[in-house]
Amino acid sequence: MEEKYPKGIKWTKQRKIVYDILDLANSPMSSAEIYEEATKTADGENFALSTIYRIMAAFEEQSLVIKTTFLGEETGLYELNRGEHTHFAICLKCHKRVPLDTCPFMHIQYGKGPKNFTITGHKLEIYGYCDKCRA
Ligand SMILES: [Zn+2]
Ligand SMILES: [Zn+2]
Repeated sequence: MEEKYPKGIKWTKQRKIVYDILDLANSPMSSAEIYEEATKTADGENFALSTIYRIMAAFEEQSLVIKTTFLGEETGLYELNRGEHTHFAICLKCHKRVPLDTCPFMHIQYGKGPKNFTITGHKLEIYGYCDKCRA
């Protein structure tokens, strides 16, 4: 099942594990969250948080992942770059991330940007309170 992993990067065992974790994730993950998942795998003891940082930097360089930073927080969240993307509303209290159904910038992303400019991405921050925290 090697085809699953995109070409252009050397696939070490650890990189594959991290890729698999992101592949199964249903919302963006921080390096710490990825690390926590990685340590639960069969190869877990070989991971350090710095390993995750290095792998995420390599993935980012290859555009395998999209990094998002919410509300000016230091921590970046990573999700696989699947050619499509999801925006999230974030709860100001519990930091829960709720996916949006659509992208409001779809028309801009795919063609109708300003002249003499190539758009490669965009960010959108939506925040408020989840059902639990609003109660
Ligand atoms: Zn909440
Ligand atoms: Zn979008």
